[in-house]
Amino acid sequence: MEHPYPYREISPWVERPADLQAPLSHDLDADVVVIGGGYTGLSTALSLREQGVDVVVLEQGFAGSGASGRNAGHLAPTIGKDVPTLLRFFGRERASQLVRFADAAVDYTEETIRKYDIDCDYRASGNVMAGVHPKHEDKLRKAASAAHELGADMRFLDGAEMRERGLPEAFRCGIHEERGGTLHPGRFVLGLRRAALAAGVRLFEDSGLLSLEDGARVVARTAAGSVRADFAVLATNAYTRSTGRRKRAVAPLRVSMLETVPLDDAQLEAIGWRGREGVYTAHEVLESFRLSAQNTIVVGTKVVRQGYGGALPSGNRPEAFAAIHAALRERLPALHDVEVAHAWGGWIALTPDFLPQIGAEGRNGNVLHGIGFCGHGVPQATLMGAMLACRIQGREHEWESALRRRSLSWPPEPLTWLGGTLLNAAFAAVDRRTDRQVRALSRD
Ligand SMILES: Cc1cc2nc3c(=O)[nH]c(=O)nc-3n(C[C@H](O)[C@H](O)[C@H](O)COP(=O)(O)OP(=O)(O)OC[C@H]3O[C@@H](n4cnc5c(N)ncnc54)[C@H](O)[C@@H]3O)c2cc1C
Repeated sequence: MEHPYPYREISPWVERPADLQAPLSHDLDADVVVIGGGYTGLSTALSLREQGVDVVVLEQGFAGSGASGRNAGHLAPTIGKDVPTLLRFFGRERASQLVRFADAAVDYTEETIRKYDIDCDYRASGNVMAGVHPKHEDKLRKAASAAHELGADMRFLDGAEMRERGLPEAFRCGIHEERGGTLHPGRFVLGLRRAALAAGVRLFEDSGLLSLEDGARVVARTAAGSVRADFAVLATNAYTRSTGRRKRAVAPLRVSMLETVPLDDAQLEAIGWRGREGVYTAHEVLESFRLSAQNTIVVGTKVVRQGYGGALPSGNRPEAFAAIHAALRERLPALHDVEVAHAWGGWIALTPDFLPQIGAEGRNGNVLHGIGFCGHGVPQATLMGAMLACRIQGREHEWESALRRRSLSWPPEPLTWLGGTLLNAAFAAVDRRTDRQVRALSRD
């Protein structure tokens, strides 16, 4: 059957770079070998290189071909499932530290964009978590007030304030996360790649790690060469299982996205949305919406899919794209007929407590990891690079204590798959009910 959506293997945000770096074809020595060339790996490599450290990055595709070149581009201070859950799990003090960590990650990313002069259409519009049904109002009001008390720059917007901002009508009320905004994720990761190459990072593309040997100096082997180094860094997020390490640390979830063709002036006028805030809904599995600098709408998530045993669930799922397309039409009815230009997907890495993990392992404690961004990696993976670089240099980054806790793993299969599948089905049922209620309201 012909696929009804124009599917891209990676995404419309990135192409294989013209200056693709040659694969590793010999044995070499370095101070540090980083596995993975996304935000985490490139940011780690850049931070280290600036301190004069000799860094090699091994990337199985091209740098930016993972989630960093596929995401929706919301740069937001969201952390954990939501603030009330953070408070329940971690208590006031730690929750406050985590909220400030998430703010710091946004600030660090903005600083990185400025420092390397990365032209990535960054727009500091903030993001809005929007209620689509009156029942969301109370929940969002309470969450906004809890977040505000913890020191976050978040504010509840009632219906009148949402309309004043020109946000589309389907978004009835919301929490405005004032820090951050939206960016072009591909240009951001390719900008980091360019900066890393200019700084003298040795990047090998089409160079997947095959094995990582422990030792006072670790040895990272690819099909045609090896890197011997004092430290290895796993910057492989959802792909971590492929390194043979920390196999149950993250559960990869497949997330799908659509992008429309550019809207014309009449369509832009019809939807309003003057402030161009990023928007995600208060569904159990959110819908995300944003306008790009090219006046396209990028919309995604809505349904997620979990693989078995940490495997990456395959993409190209017409039913996921159809669900996202239906959400686009329901929330922005003025765009009912707008054409979809691209469909793609990628994998996010879920940890059991919804927080990223930083740590070290191996006989010599010299295999580090910074993984598990739970869909918030645009800012948090970028800051993670600075944190990993500090660790390697024997210092503790000011934000490391925020993430210090007992690092949980997912239970062995079939438990994780069964648990995840049941939870996912329960979330989908709640969301279907919400959507039915929203439709009933608009008929009244
Ligand atoms: C569809 C989608 C939408 C998202 N939307 C948002 C959003 O709006 N806002 C937000 O904050 N976050 C979002 N995220 C999450 C965000 O993209 C990630 O958290 C972030 O990109 C993680 O960066 P990373 O560098 O850790 O991982 P990645 O970018 O995935 O990089 C890991 C790299 O490791 C490489 N690799 C893997 N295995 C090996 C190996 N064995 N050898 C060599 N290389 C290897 C991969 O090819 C990949 O390039 C989204 C993710 C997806 C998939």
